Amino acid sequence: MEHVVIVGASLAGLRAAETLRSGGFEGRITMIGGETHHPYDRPPLSKRLLSGEWEPDRIALRKSDQMDGLDLHWRTGARAVGLDVESRTVFVGDGTHVAFDGLVIATGAEPRTLPAQRNHRSAHVLRTVDDALALRAELVTGGKRVVVIGAGFIGLEVAATARQLDNAVTVLEGAPAPLVRGLGAEMGAAVAAIHGDHGVEIRCDAAVHDITADSVVLADGTTVDADVLVVGIGVSPSVDWLDGSGLTIHDGVVCGPDLGVGHDGIFAAGDVARWHNQLFDEPMRVEHWTNAAEQGAHVGTNLLAWRDGEPTHAYAPVPFFWSEQYDRRIQFIGRPAGDDEVHVVAGSVDDRRFAAIYGSGGRLRGVLGVNMPRVVMPFRNHLEQRMSFDDAVAVAAELAA
Ligand SMILES: Cc1cc2nc3c(=O)[nH]c(=O)nc-3n(C[C@H](O)[C@H](O)[C@H](O)COP(=O)(O)OP(=O)(O)OC[C@H]3O[C@@H](n4cnc5c(N)ncnc54)[C@H](O)[C@@H]3O)c2cc1C
Repeated sequence: MEHVVIVGASLAGLRAAETLRSGGFEGRITMIGGETHHPYDRPPLSKRLLSGEWEPDRIALRKSDQMDGLDLHWRTGARAVGLDVESRTVFVGDGTHVAFDGLVIATGAEPRTLPAQRNHRSAHVLRTVDDALALRAELVTGGKRVVVIGAGFIGLEVAATARQLDNAVTVLEGAPAPLVRGLGAEMGAAVAAIHGDHGVEIRCDAAVHDITADSVVLADGTTVDADVLVVGIGVSPSVDWLDGSGLTIHDGVVCGPDLGVGHDGIFAAGDVARWHNQLFDEPMRVEHWTNAAEQGAHVGTNLLAWRDGEPTHAYAPVPFFWSEQYDRRIQFIGRPAGDDEVHVVAGSVDDRRFAAIYGSGGRLRGVLGVNMPRVVMPFRNHLEQRMSFDDAVAVAAELAA
């Protein structure tokens, strides 16, 4: 293995490159990145960078001397448009192509959009630093009527930041409760109640019928005025460039337990990868920071093992994510399923500071905390050990005492 190509120059891709170098790989590493920037951190885009507290130089993932030390060959502003696994070649949008011995697919995900949002005079999505700066320019002056479509984590983080900048904020959600996908209906509503305290209105069961230059028209005929519109309805994995490659694509690049895509020396990592997590015995694709970082490192290690003819290892973690809204830090460890039993085990929902545990089939599946890191983090081990739900209730009570 003399040349590794990494497509997607962000968190997962960078972690893969760093792991190759720290594992002793001295060959060439080419980073093909669709953005013109070197890798930067996305979580602040909806928080401190959007609020104006931080400038883009604060969110670089590595300092320039650290980056130089990795000796990477950069192709920024270059999109991969095709992959031929037989000749082991990546095709780039500028007409060039790059041959590889090892390949990491780390192209992440991109925001879904609504066709009618183009009618609005100030419609935004939020994925890149450029998106964040464009939205920030609209929000920092305050006094705007901001409508966010989608009460997922990104939508609610934008709502919190926009509100803190003194804008009037309404969130429209088509589902019966906010954060349903991430936390389930009951806890989603409990977490989103924080927004009511700050004067943000969240309207659920709100189906968008149309969008005009300055409003959103709902299916029930009501109109919500919007000076600024933010569409936060989730993301789709960035897989178009793999059309015709023969890789299996199904809501992401389908990988084996070791993140290999079924061809020698080709692995996927981060938001783009769907793999079978043996710990939970289910296929999953995770759209969170810790997963992208850990998977990137894992494929770096597995690429080296493949080169050396050694066995690769399955990636079977306990997923983790956090969100920040106002002065609350929301953390979730584990993997919620739609029909989980949920118990609040510490604090209280009314105080907006609590922990809840999720379980199904008698087994612990996850732990949610709002300003409760003391209760959440110890559960990583318990989830790894497949603790029973009853034991988890008892442990949580001890931790909270
Ligand atoms: C606003 C925002 C806030 C977030 N906040 C949190 C948080 O609080 N907590 C948390 O856990 N997670 C958070 N996340 C999620 C986290 O940032 C992502 O899970 C993480 O960035 C995924 O990393 P990745 O490397 O897999 O993909 P990405 O970061 O999406 O990077 C993929 C890169 O590949 C490039 N690319 C795509 N297609 C091509 C192509 N064909 N050729 C070349 N390059 C290509 C893209 O331009 C991009 O630069 C947030 C995300 C956003 C957008």
